[in-house]
Amino acid sequence: MNTVAIAKEFRWEMGHRLPFHSGHCRNLHGHSYRMRVEIEGIPDANGMVMDFYDLARIVEPIVAMLDHGFVCDSGDEVMQRFFRDNPEFKVVVVPFTTTVENLCRWIAEHLAGQLARYSTVQLLRVRLYETSTAYAECTVVPPHRN
Ligand SMILES: [Zn+2]
Repeated sequence: MNTVAIAKEFRWEMGHRLPFHSGHCRNLHGHSYRMRVEIEGIPDANGMVMDFYDLARIVEPIVAMLDHGFVCDSGDEVMQRFFRDNPEFKVVVVPFTTTVENLCRWIAEHLAGQLARYSTVQLLRVRLYETSTAYAECTVVPPHRN
């Protein structure tokens, strides 16, 4: 039977910087991130690969965690010091440089774990737009439990 893909988009605003970068990206700045979460699989007896409501319920906590926050590389000592001195600001510390590639893979791997209980789902594809024209994409096979 042929697989079918469904997708839902999510948006949020987030600050970051790339301390290793020699150009503009080392400055503090932000993006209007847009993310397309695509689920591919064989539709169930009701004709659904996955209920869009369930998909939203899995993705929205991540969006809420990141929205209007600063995603900070744990190796960025300048920003780590700033957030220690100013604990009133929203920060999400991650153990990697905050490139769109790394953020996309991090989100995709987290979501794949959440999808393990959906037996119809065969593939997860996350496309994360950092600008309206530039994106990274990560494909993960969810670890099915049964
Ligand atoms: Zn950037």
